Amino acid sequence: MIMNYQLIRSKRKTLSLQINSNAELIVRAPNRLSVKKIEQFIDEKSNWINKKFTTIQAKKLKKSSYLEGEKFLYLGNEYPLNLNNSHAKGLAFNGQKFSLNAGGKEEFLVWYKAAFKKIALPRLEYYAKENKLIYKQVRLKAQKTLWGSCSYVNNINLNYLLIQAPIGVIDYVIVHELAHIKHKNHSRNFWKFVNQMLPNYKASKRWLQDNGYRLKNL
Ligand SMILES: [Zn+2]
Repeated sequence: MIMNYQLIRSKRKTLSLQINSNAELIVRAPNRLSVKKIEQFIDEKSNWINKKFTTIQAKKLKKSSYLEGEKFLYLGNEYPLNLNNSHAKGLAFNGQKFSLNAGGKEEFLVWYKAAFKKIALPRLEYYAKENKLIYKQVRLKAQKTLWGSCSYVNNINLNYLLIQAPIGVIDYVIVHELAHIKHKNHSRNFWKFVNQMLPNYKASKRWLQDNGYRLKNL
């Protein structure tokens, strides 16, 4: 799945990829080359891109500090963190704020993963059933570089940090990976199939391109 990139067109004859120090993918392309061709190229280079991203992004992101009042995302909304003195362990959420007694990143990861399981996995099952798509295993990971993937034998990986995004965005990633069960590429037919399963997916795709980095600050 292709992440955000900046496209610079010019009179050049070949395609080139660069990841700058802000962990942005810069694609230089000939003026008339189609977006499809460009994205195919990005796809082919995804291993190289992922490696670069991991190292640069880790340095670049302003990490959360887990201070009182700091905002954290859940399903597309931001909620403040309240540091309490209760004896309760782990992270709690009451619909208006997060409460934490001790810790930080680990507690959020545990909570986000559990929330993703509860909220997103039933949606994966729903879309799979609805469209008669059969996947093998589902693995949940907090990844720096990928929102999801679907292997050649149809094992699906989903990035549970997505639970911070609006539900439509989660659906988009789920549907995108499910569509790869049928189409192992980003061809026209692939996108047609995505659109069939999830009309209006484009706004969600866009949201992820624009806001994806915000889900990785933990
Ligand atoms: Zn994809």
